[in-house]
Amino acid sequence: MSLALFDKVETLTGVGPKTAQALKGLGIQTVYDLLYYFPFRYEQLQTVPLTDLADGQKAVIKGIVVTEPTVSYYGYHRSRLSFKLQIDHAVVMVNFFNQPWLHKQLAVQQPVAVYGTFQKARLAMTGMKLNSARSDDKMAPVYSVSQHLRQKTLIKLIKQVLPLAKTVGNVIPAAWRLQRHFLTDEQIIVGMQMPKSPQQNQTARQSAIFREFFLFELQLQQLLAQGSSQAGIAKHYQLPAINELTQSLPFELTTDQKRAVNQIFIDLKRPQLMRRLLEGDVGSGKTVVAVYAMYAAVTAGFQACLMAPTEILATQHFGKVKKLLEPFGVRVALLTGSTQTKEKAEIQAELANGIINVVIGTHALIQPAIKFQRLGLAIIDEQHRFGVNQRRDLLAKGQQVDLLSMTATPIPRTLALSIYGQTAVSEIRQLPAGRKPIKSAWVTSNQLRQVLVTMKEQLAKGRQIYVVTPLIAASEKTDLKNAQDLQARLAAYFKEETVALLDGQMPGERKDQIMAAFAAGQINILVATSVIEVGVDVANANLMIIFDADRFGLSQLHQLRGRIGRGPYQSYCYFVADPKNDQAKQRLEIVAATNDGFRLAAEDLKLRGQGNLFGQAQSGLPTFQVGDIVQNNDLLMLAAQAAKETLTADPDLTDAEHAYAAEVLKYKQNFN
Ligand code: ADP
Ligand code: MG
Repeated sequence: MSLALFDKVETLTGVGPKTAQALKGLGIQTVYDLLYYFPFRYEQLQTVPLTDLADGQKAVIKGIVVTEPTVSYYGYHRSRLSFKLQIDHAVVMVNFFNQPWLHKQLAVQQPVAVYGTFQKARLAMTGMKLNSARSDDKMAPVYSVSQHLRQKTLIKLIKQVLPLAKTVGNVIPAAWRLQRHFLTDEQIIVGMQMPKSPQQNQTARQSAIFREFFLFELQLQQLLAQGSSQAGIAKHYQLPAINELTQSLPFELTTDQKRAVNQIFIDLKRPQLMRRLLEGDVGSGKTVVAVYAMYAAVTAGFQACLMAPTEILATQHFGKVKKLLEPFGVRVALLTGSTQTKEKAEIQAELANGIINVVIGTHALIQPAIKFQRLGLAIIDEQHRFGVNQRRDLLAKGQQVDLLSMTATPIPRTLALSIYGQTAVSEIRQLPAGRKPIKSAWVTSNQLRQVLVTMKEQLAKGRQIYVVTPLIAASEKTDLKNAQDLQARLAAYFKEETVALLDGQMPGERKDQIMAAFAAGQINILVATSVIEVGVDVANANLMIIFDADRFGLSQLHQLRGRIGRGPYQSYCYFVADPKNDQAKQRLEIVAATNDGFRLAAEDLKLRGQGNLFGQAQSGLPTFQVGDIVQNNDLLMLAAQAAKETLTADPDLTDAEHAYAAEVLKYKQNFN
């Protein structure tokens, strides 16, 4: 059977529907995906001399079996296989748990290599893997897998497709490979999938990172070029109408908000496309700026849309936008995954014939069935949650659509440019006047009493409370707090209060009901996972307790905390955590000490790198498999430059030299 690069994984031996599904969960759908699914680390199966081993280190030791291996059984299906291994002049006790069958591979006086965890004090090794002493001098790949897919299965499949590495083209153009010593795709695949030495792997990794960034930059810059090659459409908004909006607001815009609105208006009026990023700390009031932009577009005769990452957030935006704009005759609609079929059909029809002026929604907005009569402005809230393709699909809903992206996770300008391609940035750095800074503290789980006292006090005053945990249900693997347990325990403790649970897995309708009840004051304590990270705006809630706070990124903690401190009351935030390492302690100290989101984001980047900047909940951000936009920033900048040069010379990637890159990009678009 001959395999082709873009064949589905189902064509491989040993892949049934179940495995295919599990692979899909890892983003692997084809032979191509398998070839480029790289290990996240390697087990270095190189023998380490005993004297170099630290306590608790995982390593391979090689020696001669000097005692008869014995298996003893105990408990239910438990066993221990033990023998002594002589290495030079020392004797190490080796134990393998629950792998009695390994007994067959052992014999006295035979050389073996054992991979395991070393215990220095007892001069013992807890074995994990047994090899004949000869085949141990390589780096064994370790892939990130899921509970539905075993390491072994994946390794087998990758071995099966590896011969195809010879047939792939090259993504990195020859000139760049030559000048910068980057490798061919084949060399990258081999050096990543089965490196013979750390050196080989290191070079392959650099090239793999560059390749990945280069593809991303090609895609991003092509998208932007499509924009700039067509001029934008000037939007002649009506100033008197805008002034009426200003009159109707219950507050005055801050200086930063005014400046952002002005910058956007200048963009809108110019016959060039707007590609603007609005960065503003949580609670700084980005939404109202978006409302100005949308209203301006509407008064100029265009439709506008606002896309948010969650249903809760979209629903809340909808409520606000509707309240502000409907008095001026603007028709506002909400479209999410749980919009009923009949209503959805109506909205579709009214968007297509232009009766609806503004639509707020989730990803549901980018479904093919959604068509606009004349979309002029697209706004993306929490933009780091969306990928390049989603942005492209939204912009494709109209012609020469202006784009405003908003984010509460500030990143350096150069980075914004290279990962979002945003050409202009507006910043809101000041919070609306009259806000009392949130008082934050980091407490350990021994100090919970203090937290309970504060809870009682605030409840007595009629305030509401958020309780946040990283986990929803109990898990065997960790002893982290989980939302279900906490809800039950808090309900038992605060008998007089209504304690509700908000779970990200709940149907959207149910989530909205709960949020609405909380906003209406019918729920006193809301226990939730990070679903409340964005969006919720309940002024009466002034206390937040975040359990296992060390499991969240700094920026995420800050965004969570941004849900309180929105009203006239003094607000309090407790971070409950018992971190073991210094870095985690340092992070908690920082987040308890400052309310400055810009500073926290900078610290977060410094401490943890991009991978964790947006927390576990992040989804669509340009996620890179091998590259890290912070740690490998130099390669990212280089890739941006390479993509620019490539596209300048060959805008549509039609040269034979770029054929493979073009093919890969096309493939990725179809699969995203
Ligand atoms: P974010 O930037 O986090 O998205 P929001 O747009 O949700 O923040 O605004 C937070 C809260 O501040 C909202 O309740 C909003 O009505 C209020 N707000 C916005 N701008 C001002 C202002 N200039 N003065 C007073 N309150 C404001
Ligand atoms: Mg917001």
